[in-house]
Amino acid sequence: MASPLSLSNRSRRRRLTLLASAGVSVVVLTVAISLLTSSTASTFTARVVAGVPFSPGEADGMIPAAAPLTVENDTHPAMARLDPDLLDALRAAQAAAASDGIVFDVTSGWRSAAYQRWLLDDAIRTSGSEETARAYVATPEQSSHVTGRAVDIGSLDAQLWIIENGRDWGLCQTYANERWHFEKATDAGGECPEPHRDARG
Ligand SMILES: [Zn+2]
Repeated sequence: MASPLSLSNRSRRRRLTLLASAGVSVVVLTVAISLLTSSTASTFTARVVAGVPFSPGEADGMIPAAAPLTVENDTHPAMARLDPDLLDALRAAQAAAASDGIVFDVTSGWRSAAYQRWLLDDAIRTSGSEETARAYVATPEQSSHVTGRAVDIGSLDAQLWIIENGRDWGLCQTYANERWHFEKATDAGGECPEPHRDARG
């Protein structure tokens, strides 16, 4: 099995060979690729070097995956900083859903802009593409979580209950590819708007 070092040596040799044989156009291409690579790298480095490396906590609205919140929680920033209209609608809907044995388990509510940026950067790293990441994670400027106007619900039963009944309280699924994401998007009993295709809007 070839080591990364020998692979990189080989690719360097190949590049040298190409440079020698193909001339100026290859040089231009190589320079363009290096510029692209180094600008991506410097953007990423700047974020880490400019301050303390960021790690989201409760103050940013992060809810531990193993401990979702109920809609009655009023102390966690993810709930306390939600838009009051959304919170009222969620609590009223939960009261009705309880008689069907449904519990709304909130996995995300309000988020700080820094937390949203971190989620997007993480999604870009994981998916390897900003285009793919942006389909699921909005920018801090566009996210309705950052403005306190969205919640994510964890369990399938609760998601389906809200998709079916939520509009009675104005609660709507607003992205077609996010079954878990709800906003107060109409008046109680109104018609939910057609969901956006994805987080790109
Ligand atoms: Zn969401």
